[in-house]
Amino acid sequence: MKTGRCLCGAVRFEADAVPDTFIICHCEMCRRWQGSAVLGVVVPDEGLRWSGTERVAERQTTSWAKRAWCRDCGTGVYLKSTLDEGKDGEATEIPLGIFDDASGFRPSDEIWIDHKPDSYAFVDMGQALHTRAECIETMPYFTTYGSLEQERER
Ligand SMILES: [Zn+2]
Ligand SMILES: [Zn+2]
Repeated sequence: MKTGRCLCGAVRFEADAVPDTFIICHCEMCRRWQGSAVLGVVVPDEGLRWSGTERVAERQTTSWAKRAWCRDCGTGVYLKSTLDEGKDGEATEIPLGIFDDASGFRPSDEIWIDHKPDSYAFVDMGQALHTRAECIETMPYFTTYGSLEQERER
């Protein structure tokens, strides 16, 4: 089981089944949300339990997803698709940085790589690199989640 929390500790999670990989996203929205690239662990909702949810604020940031943060300390706590809410097999993307133990993970993919600022880079740990156009064309996460027009505009 893995656990994590926001900066002030009001919002916490525990998860039974957590992959040992994360996705690095360089899109502008992630960068503004987290202050840098988002390192997101995609955690199945089955076996994922939150506490302090009354302290969570959510905002629909694209036509297909919402982002959430702690009202008390401002820590970004998750990103979630809104298109398949209530369906089986849902997952929640949780920033690696809010895990209590962020060790033992490795990056599987680096997406929106053509939007990465030239001021930083991640070392090669074997992760696959995808441009924004490649993501939209080939990654199930984006092709199934429909229109990215809103995200393109930003
Ligand atoms: Zn907090
Ligand atoms: Zn992003």
